[in-house]
Amino acid sequence: MKALDKLLEKEKFSHSDMAELLSLNSKTGVEKLFKKAYDVKTAFVGKTVYFRGIIEMSNICCKNCRYCGIRKDNKNLDRYMMTEKEILDAAKWCHESGYGSVVIQSGERDDPEFADFVTKIVKKIKELSGGELGITLSLGEQSAETYRRWFEAGAHRYLLRIETSNRELYKKLHPDSHRFSDRCRCLDMLREEGYQVGTGVMTGLPGQTAEDLAYDVIFFRNNDIDMIGMGPYIPHVDTPMKDSISDFSKKKKEQLQGALKMIAVTRIVLKDVNIAAATALQALDPVGREMGLEAGANIVMPNVTDTKYRKSYKLYEDKPCTDENSKMCRSCLSMRIGNIGETIGFNKWGDSPHFKKKVH
Ligand code: SAH
Ligand code: SF4
Repeated sequence: MKALDKLLEKEKFSHSDMAELLSLNSKTGVEKLFKKAYDVKTAFVGKTVYFRGIIEMSNICCKNCRYCGIRKDNKNLDRYMMTEKEILDAAKWCHESGYGSVVIQSGERDDPEFADFVTKIVKKIKELSGGELGITLSLGEQSAETYRRWFEAGAHRYLLRIETSNRELYKKLHPDSHRFSDRCRCLDMLREEGYQVGTGVMTGLPGQTAEDLAYDVIFFRNNDIDMIGMGPYIPHVDTPMKDSISDFSKKKKEQLQGALKMIAVTRIVLKDVNIAAATALQALDPVGREMGLEAGANIVMPNVTDTKYRKSYKLYEDKPCTDENSKMCRSCLSMRIGNIGETIGFNKWGDSPHFKKKVH
């Protein structure tokens, strides 16, 4: 254990240091890792959790990522698009409930009507909240012009996961038309347009190793990423990867542990970025998100989508809270966060300290 204590005390971490931390398996070793991550989080971003109400605007998608339950070729679901009123009502609810920001997420669309619709929605959310609500978008790969229009309309953060930095694995997870290089170009464009840039990966993907994950953290560091959203991969029955992890129900604990270790290592290495405790953690354990906060995350994205749509936005199996409404999510989450001794930063944007430092 002395060697681990010494490793955790380091200021700069090499690829092999990170891979070693990500491979920890003993109970005491993992506890030490989480404790260190929590100390770093407390020192660099504090113990305030920021909420981003997530509006799952539409499950219509023109892409075919092999792992995703709402991929274009899945015919086994009803496709929906929320109306302008439904989206604005959800945003208004967030504003009145003290959530500092909203995230608008959906399947990817590249038609001009979609770009126009989002521009209008972003402007109207800014208007209805008197400019107070922060707006994050998570709408996939778009042109620089579209990113610029949405930024000018008032969006200021964007989430686009790279899913994995291992090019070979990326190829296996996507059809040939989906290119890793395009995704990286989008991240560059987003930064140039002035967004706070968020990315992340799925952990526990079939064939993914601790070495791959360590390279993912290096990718975040080299690309000066401001926000990280990561979660465990969870197979979906209506995808080509449905059998990718045999006996998944028996491996939930392992998947959860892997995702938490990745949050912890990312916190220890990157220090001052925002890290979300993904909803997918809760699909593996009822208190998975709280465990994420204790492993170094500081952002939670409560679902504020109208309950009637939630079952149709199933990116993976066992997605939690599909029956609860936004009010129930709010009180349940507030209690859970209080239980682990943290406070909620109501009415604040809670921007990434990493981004703020760059701006100053
Ligand atoms: N279409 C947009 C946003 C919606 S998908 C985009 O792709 O960026 C948001 C994220 O859901 C993806 O980045 C992916 O990492 C995650 N996701 C999709 N399928 C998943 C699965 N089976 N298990 C875990 N996460 C998944
Ligand atoms: Fe579409 Fe995003 Fe799912 Fe890929 S991950 S199929 S882009 S919703």
